[in-house]
Amino acid sequence: MNLALLLDEDFIADDRVLLRGRRRLHLDEVIQAQPGHRLPVGRLNGLMGTGELLRLTDEEAELRVHLDREPPQPLPVTLILALPRPKMLKRVIQNCATMGVKRLYLINSYKVEKSFWQSPWLGEEKLQENLILGLEQGMDTRLPQVTLCKRFKPFVEDELPAIASGSRKLVAHPGTGTACPTHVDTPVTLCIGPEGGFIPYEVEKLIETGFEPVHLGPRILRVETAVPVLLTRLFDSTV
Ligand code: SAM
Repeated sequence: MNLALLLDEDFIADDRVLLRGRRRLHLDEVIQAQPGHRLPVGRLNGLMGTGELLRLTDEEAELRVHLDREPPQPLPVTLILALPRPKMLKRVIQNCATMGVKRLYLINSYKVEKSFWQSPWLGEEKLQENLILGLEQGMDTRLPQVTLCKRFKPFVEDELPAIASGSRKLVAHPGTGTACPTHVDTPVTLCIGPEGGFIPYEVEKLIETGFEPVHLGPRILRVETAVPVLLTRLFDSTV
């Protein structure tokens, strides 16, 4: 927790918050903060600043907060990600939030196992919990928007053209001819496949929609590795 993210319900006055649970525990056990300690804080979808610990009990931590800075700029990317297996999903979601992705579509694909869609990590509360952990890690306050799309073809044909409109359209696919670009300074819509990869039909559908297949070299990366590698490579001056 490099920044404590504050929710509306934490505020007891314009400049006072009470933290309980995980954030109180972090102050107590990890930071071992004493009254007077200052730490970075930010209001969810709002400004960032500093919190001064006023009081710490077994139940709660009271902070005086001063919020005066904008959060960092979002990455100009829309990420279209074939739904990863539950174990990986949590980490991928956190990494996306940490790296400044604000629009994330989790989509179906032939090699996404049906059972993945039953994962409790896809529930609204669990998604928000992991997005918040990612924002706290990356020191950001803007909550990413996550959309679930359970059918590949209708999504690609009916929704993706509008979602990707005005952006550079890329699909990361091993073994294709073009290397993933670097130093990109335009908005990008980026598709990343499932653990087994996109099947040829899916890559064709994406190409028909205007997507350009790009590769990252001969090594095949796990999805959780491919996401930060692709984002860093594309936006190396921003990330
Ligand atoms: N055997 C699968 C294939 O050949 O597509 C491997 C899939 S990989 C584990 C999961 C996803 O990460 C891929 O669909 C792709 O989007 C991305 N990825 C991983 N390594 C890549 C590479 N070297 N070049 C381009 N994309 C890659």
